[in-house]
Amino acid sequence: MFLIVSGAEEQIERAVAYLEGVGVRTTAAAKNLAWDEGKCVHCGACVGQCLPKALSVDEKTRRVSYDEGQCIACELCVGACPFGAIETVGKHFAVKEAANG
Ligand code: SF4
Ligand code: SF4
Repeated sequence: MFLIVSGAEEQIERAVAYLEGVGVRTTAAAKNLAWDEGKCVHCGACVGQCLPKALSVDEKTRRVSYDEGQCIACELCVGACPFGAIETVGKHFAVKEAANG
């Protein structure tokens, strides 16, 4: 079973602890992405890495923006950014195996 949870890190950890407490084993499936606009110099180096177009350039302003809803957390952009403006944080969890069947 695949389960996506969202919320503050503390809430996610509590949810995972609950699942583990009732005998459901979990494993991390993917991470969330954090884009720090304050560090971004809008060079565009990350945009070509992003197939779902979660990172895009406004053709008029030439500024880069990030649409979290489009991001599949492939992390290809992380290594592409020379300024450390993109990093992975937090986790989604996949329910791997239920102890009771
Ligand atoms: S992690 Fe992948 S999908 Fe998300 S912004 Fe980066 S390149 Fe795009
Ligand atoms: S590579 Fe980094 S600095 Fe350049 S546009 Fe992307 S996030 Fe901004």
